[in-house]
Amino acid sequence: MADKTSLAGHFRCAVMLGVDFDGPSHEVGRGIAPQGAHSWGRYSARCGIPRHIEMLQRQEVPCTFFVPGYDAMCHPDTVKAIHAAGFEVGAHGWLHEAWDMPPEEETPLLRRTDEILRQLTGKPVLGWRSPSGRKTANTMRVLKELGYIYDSSDKDYDLPYRLRFGAGRDDWILELPNNTYSLDDFPFFKFSYTPPSEVLEQWKSEFKAIYDEERFLVLCVHPRSGWGSGTPARTWILEQFIMHLKQHDGVRFFSSAQFARWCLDNPSAIEEVQVP
Ligand SMILES: [Zn+2]
Repeated sequence: MADKTSLAGHFRCAVMLGVDFDGPSHEVGRGIAPQGAHSWGRYSARCGIPRHIEMLQRQEVPCTFFVPGYDAMCHPDTVKAIHAAGFEVGAHGWLHEAWDMPPEEETPLLRRTDEILRQLTGKPVLGWRSPSGRKTANTMRVLKELGYIYDSSDKDYDLPYRLRFGAGRDDWILELPNNTYSLDDFPFFKFSYTPPSEVLEQWKSEFKAIYDEERFLVLCVHPRSGWGSGTPARTWILEQFIMHLKQHDGVRFFSSAQFARWCLDNPSAIEEVQVP
């Protein structure tokens, strides 16, 4: 493909596994009050994430967990367990904000989330994934000020690129686009009620095409109950998928921050894109 920025010569397919915590913040942020509704997200903290950690450690692959600040406040031990197991913790909004916000409302939430994640892990946060794709140039500017090196929110490409969001010298951030439909869990489990075995086949066919075209693969799953991947059968197919990926030559697993650093160290492999 003519527009392809090549990672060839380095590896054939970079793989980034991402787990979006999506705990009770998902309902609280939308004003859904009943305690029972919050239990869907609590499943992430109590079952889904511990199950994912155990499986990912068994498979010895890196992963990034994107955590809303509110969920970190409610479930600090789960966030500490992610970090203690050696996985990256990234930011994912405060109350999983999927609605428009003026900068004066958004900026303190970005800072508050960053602060609680840093406190719990003792490390700087390096990346952010927007809840439901919502972001602005202000979002990117604040993240840069906080020292973030990448954003993993956009849906417009299947390779990394430098995203220029303003005219200033520093108005750019590394973008690791994520495909939230075919390489995700929620469309299959929420809308089409696809059996786990068929989801595995969908993911495998996506991977085959990506591998053939030497693109990159960003898988996004949510360990909550309902439409998430934290239940035993759904975690099992995630493990089968990881085992399938490992069987292919030239596949290299990264956490999002590891891959972002690789991109920053290899600028000639990365395109720059200006947001209109
Ligand atoms: Zn989310």
